[in-house]
Amino acid sequence: MTTLRIYPIPAFRDNYIWIIHNTASAVAVDPGDALPVLNYLQTNKLQLDAILITHHHNDHTGGNRTLLERFDVPVYGPGQEAIPTVTHPLQDGDTVSLPSLSLTLAIIDVPGHTSGHIAYFGSLPGAEKKNVLFCGDTLFACGCGRLFEGTPQQMYQSLQKLADLPEDTLVYCTHEYTLSNIGFARTVEPSNSDLQQFEQHAKQLRDHNQPTIPTNIAAEKMCNPFLRCNQPEIIKTVSQYAGKKLNEPLDIFITLREWKNNF
Ligand SMILES: [Zn+2]
Repeated sequence: MTTLRIYPIPAFRDNYIWIIHNTASAVAVDPGDALPVLNYLQTNKLQLDAILITHHHNDHTGGNRTLLERFDVPVYGPGQEAIPTVTHPLQDGDTVSLPSLSLTLAIIDVPGHTSGHIAYFGSLPGAEKKNVLFCGDTLFACGCGRLFEGTPQQMYQSLQKLADLPEDTLVYCTHEYTLSNIGFARTVEPSNSDLQQFEQHAKQLRDHNQPTIPTNIAAEKMCNPFLRCNQPEIIKTVSQYAGKKLNEPLDIFITLREWKNNF
């Protein structure tokens, strides 16, 4: 069995369209733009077998129609969102079988950024059996998506679900926001030495024009302030920002998200 490759196609200003492929078949995750995907498929002589969508925003779905003109493939996406090109609506607990890649992905509902946002979780076939997560705009390296439709409570619970996945899970989010997220995270938790190391590593990658993604669940639990709402230093700085003593992790999360919006 050939190993799968998961390749980031840069799109727009800071999006990544993830292509999961072997030597013959490919699946595109959140193809906001068709042209770079078509170029990649052609260059690597790949057949598109399916499209996976995490949420309805146009920078994640905008390439669907053009790709469908060229490839008659199923489009998987959130059942709770109106996306005209989706042929296979999904909800929490469903699985998507991608036989050409020997890959099965489980659906996790992660409302917050949008109200019906879903994530795809699975283990790569072959000897490595790496756990992988495609989480769209929910969990970012050292950050999380903005709350456009969902409540803070929904986003908090969605992030908790993702934090409970195996620590070695590779996290394929869809924006290169890492360095700016780290800038905020360091303001919130200045003594976190893991975060400082994460920043060094991310800077080196960006200096060489390399993606900082995937991240992984273990690193996010050590560095991502939105997964660390029970840490004393974060409780302290967030309370200072709020001008009152906050204790509940959800209250910390809500204030942290507001602070980041204004940062
Ligand atoms: Zn979005």
